[in-house]
Amino acid sequence: MKYITLGSASVPAIGLGTYKIKGPEAVAIIRKAIDIGYRHIDTAQLYDNEEEVGQAILESGIPRNEIFLTTKVWPSNLGEERFLPSVEQSLKKLKTDYADLVLIHWPHHQFEVEDYITRLMEIQQQGLAKNIGVSNFNISQIKTAQKTGANIVTNQVEFHPWINQTKLHLWMQQQQIPLTAYCPLGQGRFMTDKKLIELAAKYARSLAQIILRWMMQQEDVLAIPKTISPDRLMENIHVFDFELSPAEMQMIDAWRLEHQRVVTAQSGARFD
Ligand code: NAP
Repeated sequence: MKYITLGSASVPAIGLGTYKIKGPEAVAIIRKAIDIGYRHIDTAQLYDNEEEVGQAILESGIPRNEIFLTTKVWPSNLGEERFLPSVEQSLKKLKTDYADLVLIHWPHHQFEVEDYITRLMEIQQQGLAKNIGVSNFNISQIKTAQKTGANIVTNQVEFHPWINQTKLHLWMQQQQIPLTAYCPLGQGRFMTDKKLIELAAKYARSLAQIILRWMMQQEDVLAIPKTISPDRLMENIHVFDFELSPAEMQMIDAWRLEHQRVVTAQSGARFD
């Protein structure tokens, strides 16, 4: 496994995404993930599975401090009255005193960035979040967040070979802010790509492994693929025993020009 520093933590560069995994199936697959070595789990208030994530961590028997746990505050909770109670509620569901990372899930036009980032810093000062960051923020929104003095340790955005995040990614690299890739597999949408199929055949790897390997060969990218399949769980973290050539890396880099976004902006959010 590769590790990337996010604030105070050294974080496994591949974590488990949990969007749309709920109920007993969620507890089982998250437990399975921990059993086979996942130590980085991504959830959110929106996913309505914080209970299951907390249950799986508890049942795993792995000490809490060995798992890097991320949750996210949903836009409807960004206001003064709801922010802190919503985080406390998340932690209660997660059965823990702290999250390793709390992100603002989406910016929202109803609220000033400075205001909710200040609230985020407050929960960090109270020890409820070890680290703080953002998701779906553009450059200008991150700059505004930083003006409050907040140490924004990552921006979690859609990132896979078919989306053009070059401008944002280059700027984040200059600022030394690692990028956390959500929808790293494009929710499976691009798995018929001929060039990808050819590369996978060349290395005798799955298509997902080629995509995740391309991410892991970039210094500052973490990825949180989601799967409900035990075999794919295993597949998605075993990408550290082969290497794409510089020419292959460049070839995949060029696919971004297709610029196909999988996730559409929440109301009030802007990508540019
Ligand atoms: P994703 O991880 O790109 O793709 C998940 C899809 O790929 C599922 O259909 C899964 O099917 C399939 N898959 C997984 N591993 C595979 C493999 N090895 N081979 C073939 N197919 C495979 O999409 P995502 O779940 O939308 O994104 C990942 C995580 O990012 C989410 O779960 C969530 O934690 C986070 N996220 C954050 C935001 C945000 O706004 N911050 C937005 C979206 C997502 P099976 O389950 O059947 O294997």
